Amino acid sequence: MTATPFDGHAIAPETAAFLAAPHRLLIGGEWVEGSGEIVSRDPATGLELTRVQTGGAAEIDRAVKAARAAVDGPWGRMTVADRTALMHRLARIMERDATLLTQLDILDNGMPGFIAGLTTANCVEMVDYYAGAIMRIEGTTTAPPRHIAAETEALTYTLREPVGVVGQIVPWNVPLSTAILKLAPALAAGCTVIVKPSEETPLSALALGAMVLEAGFPAGVVNIVNGLGAQAGAAIAAHPGIDKVSFTGSTATGRRIVEAALGNLKKVSLELGGKSPVMVMPDADLALAVPGVAFATFFLQGQNCMAGTRIFAHASIHDELLEGLKAFAEGMTLGHGLDPATMQGPMISDAHTAKVMGYIDGAGAAGARLVTGGRKLDRPGNFITPTIYADCRPDMALVREEIFGPVMAVTKVETTDLDELAALANDTPYGLSGSVWTRDLSTAHRLAKRIRAGHVSINCHGAVGTNIPFGGYGQSGWGREFGQEGLDAYLETKAVTARL
Ligand code: NAD
Repeated sequence: MTATPFDGHAIAPETAAFLAAPHRLLIGGEWVEGSGEIVSRDPATGLELTRVQTGGAAEIDRAVKAARAAVDGPWGRMTVADRTALMHRLARIMERDATLLTQLDILDNGMPGFIAGLTTANCVEMVDYYAGAIMRIEGTTTAPPRHIAAETEALTYTLREPVGVVGQIVPWNVPLSTAILKLAPALAAGCTVIVKPSEETPLSALALGAMVLEAGFPAGVVNIVNGLGAQAGAAIAAHPGIDKVSFTGSTATGRRIVEAALGNLKKVSLELGGKSPVMVMPDADLALAVPGVAFATFFLQGQNCMAGTRIFAHASIHDELLEGLKAFAEGMTLGHGLDPATMQGPMISDAHTAKVMGYIDGAGAAGARLVTGGRKLDRPGNFITPTIYADCRPDMALVREEIFGPVMAVTKVETTDLDELAALANDTPYGLSGSVWTRDLSTAHRLAKRIRAGHVSINCHGAVGTNIPFGGYGQSGWGREFGQEGLDAYLETKAVTARL
């Protein structure tokens, strides 16, 4: 079958104009030439969308100098009121251009339109939220030290100050969202940033860069350097002029970032992978659980760090749940994200599709039973049908490893003992998310408490939000994003003692 641009769907004039324009690097308030190029493709068709210039170590170095000059200069001296106003202005521009931002993530990433629309709205909300938080950045007063206070009147207080120049390395699975949830708190804290989008999804960050310029942020506050992970990303992690690196991506890359950051001991925040448990109890409301558990796995075609892919279903409801999940999966419409009927889009790339299909190919031999799916559609783009395996055991790769695709592993459990269930849920090096499905309040909260993860949902899955701290236990990461903790991650505390 031959691919047609956007699968025959129309794009907005502003999106067409954006794709036709040159895509350079934003450094020091100007669009500058890069030293390389990447091709951006629509994963639903495989067709080229546009070409994007990239940078490496030299461009990162230039961006760091621009960011340092801004934090030491106009941005560092700007009043809190002006910083707040600039961020609200950015939010209004993003709101005005929401169609562009949404369509760029649909085209670049392949995500369904209903998800892209939601994430754009959440991004606007997040910029406003952190703009509002600026005025609440507060220190404290405390007792001065004994040896000073014994001699004279004294005063001790704390100041919250920006960490400084921050490198932000983002993944491809929710491109705009993962950029904004780093950018917005960093700007609110008074930091300057170098954002490196994923080479798979370079576009929406560039549109955001143009909005930052339009809003009137001083030159060098926000720098956007597209590039390969091993070049631009590695240069950020190792650069001695960067005070902090905030990374979202795979656990393997996270380890490399930590090693590279050792040189100047820059601060490191990591949001990494997951393999989240979904615990379905005997008294679960299956009318709620069937679509909820299905979306825990299939949301964003499973390319979701919070994906609930390890389903532990009690024997008493196992068969009914599985039947419901199978029907739900088989009823999901796969297609281009611009089609409003689409519930699941394509995988991001050929290489990632091969990885996911490798897990599917190996699952049967390991003893898992295919309930539905497991196929790559015979059409342009990489569409993998929603896939469910039953009879899964804790030692299977399907259950242990992050697949990052639409593949669910269901395990039947006989026990209702909460400690035994928690042991199953916690049998993983990860600890990002999890969910509990039950009508019993006591069971819900007691099991939620026992699950070792940064985020647990009850009768829903992955219920994150702008104001709700999010991050990982174990090998799912270091630190928290979103909410007040997301802002704190970009602030240093300075204590001042004055002999009066
Ligand atoms: P990835 O680790 O391959 O890439 C992430 C980013 O790191 C990209 O920008 C990439 O260019 C860059 N990078 C790659 N190698 C690098 C290096 N050596 N030095 C510096 N930077 C480098 O991850 P991905 O495939 O883009 O994203 C998928 C992964 O991200 C999954 O494991 C998923 O669970 C995780 N993720 C986590 C969260 C979270 O909040 N915990 C959110 C989204 C995605």
